[in-house]
Amino acid sequence: MTLHADYDPDNIFAKILRGEMPRVKVYEDETVLAFMDVFPQSKGHTLIIPKEVEARNFLDMPTDQVGAYMERVQKVARAVEKALSPDGVVVTQFNGAPAGQTVFHLHFHVIPRWSDKALSGHASGQMADIPNLEAIASKIRAELD
Ligand code: 5GP
Repeated sequence: MTLHADYDPDNIFAKILRGEMPRVKVYEDETVLAFMDVFPQSKGHTLIIPKEVEARNFLDMPTDQVGAYMERVQKVARAVEKALSPDGVVVTQFNGAPAGQTVFHLHFHVIPRWSDKALSGHASGQMADIPNLEAIASKIRAELD
């Protein structure tokens, strides 16, 4: 029952929000934290998570907070596109393990796509090189208003 369960305050993104786990930050304000995915499916794979809310998934998100959250998802997606000039951008999220979710704090993925490059596997493979992620994050940060 991963779709309907209690919020686990020890999930990895809650730890990142509390500063108990490292992350390569792209953007932060009162509503969201955006950071690089450490198992990127493509160059620039970024995650945007809501702060101050115990939502396991999109269905749990209080409706009155969805608008502010999605504005930030779009803001980060636009910056990723400007910074990296991909051919396309996937903006997605999964609800429940059978749908593909592996971390149970709401997050949207922004995944740049290039026509000639296949995606790496979801939440798998080798961890990215952190200095490389820092360099990509810095390009994205430079495109944020
Ligand atoms: P989900 O499968 O829940 O939609 O996505 C979780 C994402 O979090 C995956 O893309 C996975 O690569 C990423 N991820 C897992 N552990 C960590 C971590 O410790 N740090 C970061 N930055 N990303 C993580």
